Amino acid sequence: MNKYANAMNNGINMQENKRKVVQIGTLRIGNGLPVRVQSMTNTDTHDYEATLKQVQSLDKAGCEIIRLAVPDMEAVETIRQLKNEKIAAPLVADIHFDYKIAVACCEAGVDKIRINPGNIGSRQRVREVVAACRERKIPIRIGVNGGSLEKEILHKYGSPTAEALAESALGHVRILEEEGFDDIVISIKSSDVRTCIAANRLLYKMTAYPLHIGVTEAGSVTMGRLRSAVGIGSLLCDGIGDTIRVSLTADPLLEVTEGKNLLHALGLDQSGISIVSCPTCGRTKIELIELVERFENEYLPKLNPSRSLKVALMGCAVNGPGEAREADIGIAGGIGEALLFKKGQIVGKYPEEKILDILTNEINQM
Ligand code: SF4
Repeated sequence: MNKYANAMNNGINMQENKRKVVQIGTLRIGNGLPVRVQSMTNTDTHDYEATLKQVQSLDKAGCEIIRLAVPDMEAVETIRQLKNEKIAAPLVADIHFDYKIAVACCEAGVDKIRINPGNIGSRQRVREVVAACRERKIPIRIGVNGGSLEKEILHKYGSPTAEALAESALGHVRILEEEGFDDIVISIKSSDVRTCIAANRLLYKMTAYPLHIGVTEAGSVTMGRLRSAVGIGSLLCDGIGDTIRVSLTADPLLEVTEGKNLLHALGLDQSGISIVSCPTCGRTKIELIELVERFENEYLPKLNPSRSLKVALMGCAVNGPGEAREADIGIAGGIGEALLFKKGQIVGKYPEEKILDILTNEINQM
């Protein structure tokens, strides 16, 4: 349960110590451990060079778990080769139906597999997958989507409701538990934001396994970002969710940026520089919109990313420092000039055209 759980718990009452921790490669998730950002490659997994390049870019961008589609045995070779490269993020093989691919991925050194045991046929096949995972301590992620529910469940509920999604996921969980396997992560996703939230809230109450959360088929960058902020954000505010994916019809690198921004916005990732800026109003006498854009695009990338600071960019000296009382440092606009303030106290007055350089120098000295 993340730090919001106590403050913002809306009646979901699981005891913190009872959630399960799962290890994925070198990464541990669950039970209040940091929420991790994941994404998925969109290169053809058979194209090793292209996939390697994208995996390396995702890894460098801070993607903490990288999933790849493994549609056949040939693609397993990519997993095998990738595991010989220097990649910090654990790799997850996304497999549909074919238990032999799952076993082969385990042998190839993958860190987690995503497969639904209810979809792979006989119990014997499930046992073979479980044995391969157990031997190498590889967790299994069960992933249920609104679009791929079992016919019986769909018939029972009439549509992919929150209850239907949860029941489907728990059915797959039961199969693994019956085989004595509990190294499990679950995801239930829907493209409907409210269903997604309700389904995960339900599942959270019914199981202690780590949950991977996200709104599936969330759309383009603009809508996908918004749907994910509402869907993933609401759940994280409840203390629900151990890994997240901001699913976008876009470059996967953007999913990582948006995922990290989302955690940042919720205060779940306090590393880096966080900018607060006022909306501007009739009191604004400097070009604040332009200053904020320039600070974000030109200055911020050059600042030390390991530093944790809140920087306020405010439009006026009347309310600026007061409104940004929580900020470590900031500016407040006047006519052709701006005040520099630290912790709400004014420390100097500088020309508008120099204020970003001066602010940046101060930040570097903090
Ligand atoms: S800080 Fe000043 S300029 Fe910005 S919105 Fe508030 S009152 Fe307006």
